[in-house]
Amino acid sequence: MAYTKLKNSLKTQMMRMTLIPLIIMTVVIVAVSASVIHKTIVDSTHEELIRDAKLAVKFFDDEYAGDFWAEDSDGDGEYEMYKGNQQLNGEYTVIDDVAEMLDIDISIFYDDKRLLTTLKDASGQRAIGTSAAVVVRKDVLEEGQSHFYNNVLVYDNKSFAYYEPLRDENGQIYGMIAVGRTQGEVFKEIAKNMWPIVTACIVIALLIGVIMVGYNRRLGNRIIRMDKYMNTLSSGEFDAEIPRELMVEDDELKRLATDGRKMARAIKNLVEYDALTQLNNRRYGDKKLEDIRVRAVEMGVKYCICIADIDFFKKVNDTYGHEMGDIVLKAVADKLKAGMMGKGIAARWGGEEFLLIFENRELDIARRELSIIMDDIRTIYVPDTDRQITMSFGLTAMIPGESTDESLKRADENLYEAKETGRNQIICK
Ligand code: GH3
Ligand code: MG
Ligand code: MG
Repeated sequence: MAYTKLKNSLKTQMMRMTLIPLIIMTVVIVAVSASVIHKTIVDSTHEELIRDAKLAVKFFDDEYAGDFWAEDSDGDGEYEMYKGNQQLNGEYTVIDDVAEMLDIDISIFYDDKRLLTTLKDASGQRAIGTSAAVVVRKDVLEEGQSHFYNNVLVYDNKSFAYYEPLRDENGQIYGMIAVGRTQGEVFKEIAKNMWPIVTACIVIALLIGVIMVGYNRRLGNRIIRMDKYMNTLSSGEFDAEIPRELMVEDDELKRLATDGRKMARAIKNLVEYDALTQLNNRRYGDKKLEDIRVRAVEMGVKYCICIADIDFFKKVNDTYGHEMGDIVLKAVADKLKAGMMGKGIAARWGGEEFLLIFENRELDIARRELSIIMDDIRTIYVPDTDRQITMSFGLTAMIPGESTDESLKRADENLYEAKETGRNQIICK
């Protein structure tokens, strides 16, 4: 059976089994750390902005005594902003210095009007006179709550901003101070904190991945070797050696391979050997004959074949019983096996008939060797009797180019002649 690739091999399954959870785990860890870092930095930005708002107010208080206040003296809708006696319109030194020192943007509102600010548009104009959002007005001015917003839009610039109400000495809210930091800056800080964690996660995941893939690949390859080995055995190559990779670890694969080999040997025994005589059986003899015939054609090797048959064996059975017949058969088989050692093979061809293959031999040599075997057979006696066992032999040389059936037929004819002309002899043609 040819070895075919599998649609869903164990190696692929194992790779999936380890890499998918690893990738999911890495993504989850990165996502969770990202969200934790995001929250931490947003929270700390919040804290910083609260502190910065207080600091900014303190700097103003230190610089100019009194409250912020404003009036629209000429009624043109443009307010003048004061702190104590100091008019602040156009006076940006303090606010710019504080903003630069704290690295924030600062706006001071009278009611919801931005009268003093470090925020500028694209042309560098300060965002004076712009109104706070409705929600800010409601939260801070109406409800009197300090508030933190994540998404304040001023001139296309999204910011994190903190608004705190400003109160006069009677506790009345007259405006607010807003301190903010652009989202871009905060996100840059988040990214700065994120990348070592993301890098570490990815490096660790890669390391784990490399180790897992290494182990998986090795185990997967051994499983593939095992599969191929079993495939080889199942295709009838019972003598196939166990691949070295399967023997390197003392694990189930090694045991599977050795059990597989044991099973193959047991099957080989059943398939190729005769249970009674322990000689090769006819199936093996046929296969061997064909192998040798092919070799003879390809390489010009000479060989001879012989069909041998025990004389009057039926009488042995009839006289001494079937069991005694078996004992004689075994004795004959042993002699044939010993006699053919190093010359070729002996196989049980049927009942009390045997096939002998003389490899790499001319007919006269085979004949000489066969006559020694015949003499040896003559030394067999039915145990505890004076009944001698003899055999008749039909020997022939294989003719290059002919089929095994043709050479077998000639050997059979020779055997027939040996039987017809007195038995206990070799007929060789
Ligand atoms: P010939 O000299 O013409 O060969 O005479 P033969 O009696 O040997 O030949 P025949 O073909 O008449 O008888 C063969 C006998 O071999 C018949 C069969 O019962 C016996 N036989 C075949 N296989 C076995 C076996 O496995 N065990 C035993 N005990 N006898 C077997
Ligand atoms: Mg016979
Ligand atoms: Mg016989």
